[in-house]
Amino acid sequence: MLSKTEVIVLKSMKYRDTSKIVTFYTKEYGKLKGIAKGARSAKNKFGSSLEPMTHAMLVLYKKEHREIHLISQCDALCSFKSFSEDFDRMTAALAVIELVHQVTHDEERNPALFALLLDTLGALHTSVKKYSTYVYAFQIRLVTLFGYAPNLETCGACASPLVAGTGETEYSFLIARGAVYCNRCRKPDSSLNVPGDPGSTFTSITAEVLQILRRLQHANLDSLGNLEFSRHAGNQIDEILRLYLRYHFEGLKTLKSTEYFH
Ligand SMILES: [Zn+2]
Repeated sequence: MLSKTEVIVLKSMKYRDTSKIVTFYTKEYGKLKGIAKGARSAKNKFGSSLEPMTHAMLVLYKKEHREIHLISQCDALCSFKSFSEDFDRMTAALAVIELVHQVTHDEERNPALFALLLDTLGALHTSVKKYSTYVYAFQIRLVTLFGYAPNLETCGACASPLVAGTGETEYSFLIARGAVYCNRCRKPDSSLNVPGDPGSTFTSITAEVLQILRRLQHANLDSLGNLEFSRHAGNQIDEILRLYLRYHFEGLKTLKSTEYFH
């Protein structure tokens, strides 16, 4: 069946003398692999459309129960040229791509994830600073799309709103529940003041970090360029999201690209 779909190129590998095997995240089918015959020959008809991070329109012969489909045509819609001009921007874009590659399975359709991926690359493409902010926003929105949204609005035990100005400067985040607790509900010995709940390991988060996480979760992506936070807050966000993703995506490897953020 000849199929046409919008894609983001996740990975591109040389194959034999003149071909390439390319992994795409597609709008219609989720992640899938294709072979581009002649993509490395003199008469390469694909141009640069098969380079990682390219947004393109793909036409392929899709066969049921095949792991690799035959690529008929691929035309770049946007190659995000600014990524190759700035190492930090490139690193952030790679972290996003790598994460999608790791957490998705072949041919599981998720158009919302495709949209998030494209929007994030677009925001990174035009932003001028704090690239890691977009990676954090992508991470928290990704887990949300997979059904693991953390509740950052109300205490996970007493349900009282977690609001600024109540005098609390620090809260407790419980990774396993994706919940934040007020100080009344968390005992000093790190167990939870809820009948029947055994002690659990908490991560402390400051009120500042809680506010930032909320914006990362809900704010318009284009507005995140104005989000200022201290290095300490950045480290805490990085750590919480890393633990949270690892908890929900078993076997998630440390993303090579994120090591450059610090
Ligand atoms: Zn509480």
